Amino acid sequence: MTVLLREQVAEAARRLAHEGLLVGTAGNVSAMSGELVGVTASGVMLGGCRPEDVTVVTPSGYVVEGDLAPTSELSLHLGIYADTATAAVVHTHAPYSTTVACVLDELPVLHYQQLLLGGAVRVAPYATFGTPELASAVREALDGRQAALMASHGSVAIGDSLSAAVQNALLLEWLAALYHRASVLGTPKVLTQQEQDDVVRQALSRNYGTPQPHEENQ
Ligand SMILES: [Zn+2]
Repeated sequence: MTVLLREQVAEAARRLAHEGLLVGTAGNVSAMSGELVGVTASGVMLGGCRPEDVTVVTPSGYVVEGDLAPTSELSLHLGIYADTATAAVVHTHAPYSTTVACVLDELPVLHYQQLLLGGAVRVAPYATFGTPELASAVREALDGRQAALMASHGSVAIGDSLSAAVQNALLLEWLAALYHRASVLGTPKVLTQQEQDDVVRQALSRNYGTPQPHEENQ
């Protein structure tokens, strides 16, 4: 079981590096399987992440498999698993997510796809990396959301599967880039609460984001 877990976490790290969200050794990925968490080790070049670069720990942080020390943000990952039923956590220093996290207190909803993350994305106040203060601020910012930003630091995305957490990190980066580009042209227009409610209603009635059978096949 842990062989597959370590392979999957390594593959997700390589994918996020390929997409430009993880650069060098910056950022980390984890996934929960049963009662164990596979998490990228500290100092690993994430673009070439191998299963042996993923350390397996218990929910309290005790290492049960792997030769390398887990990421310095381990308490952030474990705290999120303790709070929520999430299956995976991605932390990045992705270029646009980090850019907006250096300026905004909250990433507003300019585009309806952001509602997949739960609405406006909060920016957790700055605290030193690897500290319980940072972990607790991020956990608070994640309340009711699939992602959060970290002031002057980066982003966190979660999901009910590893691939969902990866998709949420990619979506957040796209939305941050959108905000940046829109701001260059003028003042971005934020969707009103009514417009957001209408999107949720429409998405529910159409199963938005899920492949649907062709009408003739129904
Ligand atoms: Zn970081």
